[in-house]
Amino acid sequence: VIVRADDLRPEGLPVDLTLDVGPLSYEESIEIQVGATTLAARVRPSRGGVVCAGRIEAVVSVPCSRCLAYYSLPVDREFDVSYLPEPSAGQTENIDLRVSREDLDVSYLDSEGKLDMRELATEQIYLALPMKPLCAPECRGLCSGCGSNLNAETCRCVAAAR
Ligand SMILES: [Zn+2]
Ligand SMILES: [Zn+2]
Repeated sequence: VIVRADDLRPEGLPVDLTLDVGPLSYEESIEIQVGATTLAARVRPSRGGVVCAGRIEAVVSVPCSRCLAYYSLPVDREFDVSYLPEPSAGQTENIDLRVSREDLDVSYLDSEGKLDMRELATEQIYLALPMKPLCAPECRGLCSGCGSNLNAETCRCVAAAR
């Protein structure tokens, strides 16, 4: 789903989408599954670029950083992202804009001034992922000795030591 900056009216464009984002890769080798993703936002023109503000909701399946088991993590995130026109040589104006808006998320439109809502959704899902996902706060993880999942199994090291 593509929004063209040139087509936007001053009042903006409401966007209400259900997207299929597809699996994402996480920390290079880990795959995370993304369920149906809903995106409700408004795209408004702003200083040659656009601003997209709204909310994204999805359920992703990520591996727990302690026990490595996949679990469902709901994502519900509000965002407010500025997209500037792609910078080209001699356009120092954009650099000034960027500095004055450093408190906002800033990205760039592609060379044709288009914004891909699916890419935006993917970015927002990445931003919503915790650094160390945990299936439960009390997750007991894997035994460093035998590798048992201590949530589900009795550790074989303890059994052997008896
Ligand atoms: Zn866990
Ligand atoms: Zn063990």
